[in-house]
Amino acid sequence: MDTKYVFVTGGVVSSLGKGIISASLACLLKARGFRVTIQKFDPYINIDPGTLNPYEHGECYVTDDGHEADLDLGHYERFTNIRTSRANNVTTGRIYQSVIDKERHGDYLGKTVQIVPHITDEIKRSVRALGTTGRYDFVITEIGGTVGDIESLPFLESVRQLRWELGQNALCIHLTYVPYIAAAKELKTKPTQHSVKQLQELGIQPDVLVLRTEKHIGHDMRGKIARFCNVAPDAVVQSIDVDSIYKVPMKMHEQHLDEIVMRKMGVPVEGEPDMAPWTAFLHKLDGATEVVNIGLVGKYVELQDAYKSINESLFHAATYAGYKVKIHYIHSEKLKPENVGTQLGDLDGIIIAPGFGQRGIDGKFVALKWCREHDIPTLGICLGMQCMVIEYARDVLGLEDANSTEMDSTTRHNVIDLMEEQKSITNMGGTMRLGAYDCHLRPDSLAAKAYGATEISERHRHRFEFNNSYREALEAAGMQCVGTNPATGLVEVVEVPALRWFVGTQYHPEYSSTVLSPSPLFRDFIRAAIEFKHENENKH
Ligand code: GLN
Repeated sequence: MDTKYVFVTGGVVSSLGKGIISASLACLLKARGFRVTIQKFDPYINIDPGTLNPYEHGECYVTDDGHEADLDLGHYERFTNIRTSRANNVTTGRIYQSVIDKERHGDYLGKTVQIVPHITDEIKRSVRALGTTGRYDFVITEIGGTVGDIESLPFLESVRQLRWELGQNALCIHLTYVPYIAAAKELKTKPTQHSVKQLQELGIQPDVLVLRTEKHIGHDMRGKIARFCNVAPDAVVQSIDVDSIYKVPMKMHEQHLDEIVMRKMGVPVEGEPDMAPWTAFLHKLDGATEVVNIGLVGKYVELQDAYKSINESLFHAATYAGYKVKIHYIHSEKLKPENVGTQLGDLDGIIIAPGFGQRGIDGKFVALKWCREHDIPTLGICLGMQCMVIEYARDVLGLEDANSTEMDSTTRHNVIDLMEEQKSITNMGGTMRLGAYDCHLRPDSLAAKAYGATEISERHRHRFEFNNSYREALEAAGMQCVGTNPATGLVEVVEVPALRWFVGTQYHPEYSSTVLSPSPLFRDFIRAAIEFKHENENKH
């Protein structure tokens, strides 16, 4: 079968959940046995979100091949269990960069370089690049932003052209908002009508409308929307608020979104998607009543999107354990020896978050000392792991000024430092260790027990590393380096075996946790937290 291209656009307001709808459709198509991938176009000028502050765009997700990507790619992986890559996230900046590079290289043979056709051609090439690999039956392309934005225009123009070129192999799903006006007790369709008109003005007739709504949209109202928007009545689907994003695929399937898409693209509809493992997860979710309380110590507590993948990984792990997870966001800047007891005292497990820079770092040390002294299950991720090493070096080894050279470039005890080969690189985007790296685990470690393997691969995003000259001293003092990169000898995992569950990873296990294949490390962390909770309950 030819590769089918599905475009997902959004109207009326942002944050309607285009990423979740795209991921849900992909999830259903995959469960029907198709090979699917999802791609996100971001209309901003940054080359990638790597240099963006989390306050701007939430977490920066990292793909296996080391691309710093929009957090929607995390949803794609969590819903489809399919790995994404650099080709799955393209920004306006990247499009312009490659057009400008080609222009400098003389590739346009003296022509005037313009938005149409040169920028649009580059966008179209990026869409088709995934299809021409021959690896996918469906390429779902989510266009970031909202119809009417100046910056998404070249993307929408490219969609218009591609629909023309691809015929039945292209389809457009438009996601809009149907607000409920409480005073009038009515749902309103006008914003949807306007948004579709705006799309039509750009030459795009949507094939399917997905209506985000708080209240059920009845048959009559769907008929009205269909009539005004030139869309078949059965292709008007509602996306009603649900208590978990993971319920959206089933909601879409109940309204036959997968079938509608297939039928419109001439793909024979046979049987049903195999959603059994997915519904088993939802069953566990609905059956869970008891709560496990996890503290997340970090500096972006006001903005939970900053820790999106960690939140989701905890949620996957707790759900499979039959628990609800309550995440307590603990502001590392406000954590002091005086208040650590009240802040962490009632929690069942603590995560020390990743991060960059000095701000909030002291609170992480305070938290770690408390966790160690009270033997609370603790997982340190990236900067969290580096803090574990620093705190241990200071408090247990007695190296009072132990630090990372990221925080203090003149420290005498640089237990975390830049590696020689990185020191000469000054470009902020260029110095990071990014993407999946192999790690060898000591067979007797908690990590090896969790993964059920000694050879693993996980994704990284950091500049600084454990300084191996302190390895011997730390190990003699009880902190074991149980995971190392087989090629470079860099330390990837530390543990303190004298404690019940105290693990730090230089890598980010949260990037690879999906609904159907949850992170083993988070699973064991949550198990340890549940055990700890029960022990405490029995004591009282
Ligand atoms: N700031 C640390 C480094 O660059 C850790 C980064 C992170 O936590 N992602 O090494």
